[in-house]
Amino acid sequence: MKNIKKKGILIPFVLIILIAGIFFNYKHSLNSKKIIQYKQFLEEIDKGNVTDVYISNSENIKIILKNNKIYYTQNPRTDTFKESLLLKGINVHEGDSSGLSQIIPLSLFSFLMISATLYFISSRGKNVSGAFKLSSIDAEPEKTTNITFNDIAGNEEAKESIKELVDFIKHPEKYSKYNARMPRGVILYGPPGTGKTLIAKALAGEANVPFFAVNGSDFVQIYVGVGAGRIRDLFKKARDKGKAVIFIDEIDAIGKKRDARGDGGSDERDQTLNALLAEMSGFKDSQGIIVMAATNRLDTLDEALLRPGRFDRHIEVGLPDVTARYKILKLHSKNKPLAEDVDLYSVAQMTVYFSGAKLENLMNEASILAAKESSDYITMEHIDKAFGIVIAGAEKKDRSFLKDEDKKITAYHEAGHALISKLVCPENIVKRVTIIPSTKGAGGYTLNISPDRIYQTKGSLLNNIKIALGGRAAEEIIFGKENITTGAYKDLENATNTLILMAKYYGMFNNTGLLNYDLLEREGVNNSQEILKICRETISNLYNEVIDILNKNKEKLDKIAFELLEKETIDSYDIERIVAA
Ligand code: ATP
Repeated sequence: MKNIKKKGILIPFVLIILIAGIFFNYKHSLNSKKIIQYKQFLEEIDKGNVTDVYISNSENIKIILKNNKIYYTQNPRTDTFKESLLLKGINVHEGDSSGLSQIIPLSLFSFLMISATLYFISSRGKNVSGAFKLSSIDAEPEKTTNITFNDIAGNEEAKESIKELVDFIKHPEKYSKYNARMPRGVILYGPPGTGKTLIAKALAGEANVPFFAVNGSDFVQIYVGVGAGRIRDLFKKARDKGKAVIFIDEIDAIGKKRDARGDGGSDERDQTLNALLAEMSGFKDSQGIIVMAATNRLDTLDEALLRPGRFDRHIEVGLPDVTARYKILKLHSKNKPLAEDVDLYSVAQMTVYFSGAKLENLMNEASILAAKESSDYITMEHIDKAFGIVIAGAEKKDRSFLKDEDKKITAYHEAGHALISKLVCPENIVKRVTIIPSTKGAGGYTLNISPDRIYQTKGSLLNNIKIALGGRAAEEIIFGKENITTGAYKDLENATNTLILMAKYYGMFNNTGLLNYDLLEREGVNNSQEILKICRETISNLYNEVIDILNKNKEKLDKIAFELLEKETIDSYDIERIVAA
């Protein structure tokens, strides 16, 4: 996020280098002056080679020859010198382009550069960070956090947990009367875009108090002590406001666990974390300040941060289920002209694993498409198209560059994904398959929607890997082992990622057992070879299985590919028809 702040630290270095550079350049120019004897100068005049002479009071005067070369010679300081030059048709300039006259522009330049830099710093005012101001941070409160719980759809449990904090901020004395210790810190954890920032803002909005938002990475600096200073500064600002909500996004930047080898820590980070903990312990319960922090992964945070009296309330903000997705879609369509044919529940059903941010983006893309067409309403077709844009990027309009051979490869690759998907996971909906390349770089894509599930079984994870391998397997079957392409790189990345999770965290393979390998690694036990072996064996077996399935269903594979080549995009009905035939 706000990387620009870190640049503040470079300013003094830049200034020092700049001034040293200018000084060196000036010294160098003085030392490298070419001085000729006065006698030689007169000879050049006689030869008619001198065009300009700069007369001054300095020891040497500057002369320019016909060939534009510049020399210096001793200053004769005679009264008739200027006249004698003029009589010979030489241009004579009064004053010097060296010495003082060079120093003045140089110092002026330095002065201007320093002024500009200082202006840059001061114009960023209190938001500036860097070596000049050790404790400053961009933490002006948002005065108009008019976000309330009405702006959050779904996330019912999180909202419920936050509601009592609103009462605590509004009436802290009520709780201190009973000697009740309210949480000083709340950690919101969950995948990106699920509404963590929104919830923190809503807490401030509902309690009607200032909202200070910062990012954990703002505190991690190269100079030891800078981050700690900034923490103190931030809390001072909040205390000055009386009641407040402080929100630290990406808290992992300061509060990440250190492993057994001591990696992952630094003096700077430790000091910053200690300063944060000290500030949080320093609150009075009656104060009405709540610190909220957000992370994508709670398990990576240092235990010290999670102890009672610190960030002791942990609220999960997960991906929305179908009902929550429906609510979020409704909320973000509130002020949009939706056509009657739009069925937001069916949109909710096809947006499995979409975060709130992605759903908001989906409706926004649909609005943009409708606006581009000057359509009166946002239709289901707009939403459908927007869906493709959110998943894979906008369709490339100019497809004239596509070679038939490439189209054929994409058609078989996508057909492989679609067919395996339908054959190994019949409950999945293959919503759309296309060979139209997208602006995000995909040659085509298969939109495969799996049913909403709280847990993923081992079988469903292995099936997902098979679906991912379907594209490469189809290429190999049709075009031969030697002609497989780079098109599968993202599929292989996804497959590898799933396998690592299964082996390292989910204890799903007999050979690797029920251990958490991430924890073992942090304790200094290296098992990477075991993980590698099980991942390699499993993916190889799954690939052979996929090749087998496709070989047995080659006719269907051909049919899907041909239809794709003909229509470019096919939908779930086409797929069902071909697979059922
Ligand atoms: P990150 O982890 O990437 O910082 P986050 O969890 O903090 O993400 P937000 O920044 O709060 O996510 O959400 C981004 C946007 O997504 C919100 O401004 C809002 O438009 C939309 N959004 C996310 N969740 C919800 C929700 N539950 N209800 C309504 N809108 C939501």
